[in-house]
Amino acid sequence: MPIQSAELTLEQEAQPAAIGERQDPLVRMQEDLRRAMKKPIDQRRWVMVIDLRKCVGCSACTIGCVVENKLPPGVVYRPVLEEEIGTYPNVTRRFIPRPCMQCDDPPCVPVCPVNATYKRPDGIVAINYDDCIGCRYCLVACPYSARLFDAGRQYLDGTTPAIPALLGRDKAMVYEKLPAYEYGHAWERHEGESPIGNARKCQFCSHRLEAGMLPMCATTCIGRATYFGDSNDPEALVSDLIASPNVMRLKEEMGTQPKVYYLA
Ligand code: SF4
Ligand code: SF4
Repeated sequence: MPIQSAELTLEQEAQPAAIGERQDPLVRMQEDLRRAMKKPIDQRRWVMVIDLRKCVGCSACTIGCVVENKLPPGVVYRPVLEEEIGTYPNVTRRFIPRPCMQCDDPPCVPVCPVNATYKRPDGIVAINYDDCIGCRYCLVACPYSARLFDAGRQYLDGTTPAIPALLGRDKAMVYEKLPAYEYGHAWERHEGESPIGNARKCQFCSHRLEAGMLPMCATTCIGRATYFGDSNDPEALVSDLIASPNVMRLKEEMGTQPKVYYLA
């Protein structure tokens, strides 16, 4: 089962959602998710909204995602980019989490020679690991560098049992062997088998959505800067947010129609 680090317990869910006058966004998004999952898949339109004013650059989302998807070294689905803005001495840093944009018109899809990458009816751009031949055309086509290649590396590569024993090598070995549950399948990483040798990327934690859970990054964000939901639902929190005047998307001029929105 996927890790449920920041999920609400049944007991918590039974409690009234209000904190003072306000409802915690996680509670509202959980309710939004539950409503969306009752609809046919082609009537959902998943979007993510990231409030750059709230992101503190802690990378909890990055780590949560790595753990959830058992990502190997060099494969990070949700890096947090840093940008310096202003002119010295009046400068500040801004943090920009960058998952796959789940483009409505995804350049990564038509270049795949074996149709291993495709857009699902709910808009999530997915990879069929069984079909992927690892040619990496999609990595080149993605304007956001959101795709990575799983070259089969392990965190313990190059270590020896003696010294890293001090660092909990045995526990790390257990972690390396745990399966990822992307696309609803238990993927163990064995040499010569998927997902080793495949393109990989964020898929909005589609396996968690199926289990009624929000994407890992949304639940682990300590700044409550990440929002997720169905923009086809006018009652959903994300529908309110993407109607904000300060909303923007990355590289909109390319016509990719990203489904990740930023509030700046
Ligand atoms: S790496 Fe896999 S998903 Fe990407 S274009 Fe090649 S076959 Fe398709
Ligand atoms: S961000 Fe890149 S990988 Fe994701 S859907 Fe768009 S083109 Fe494809």
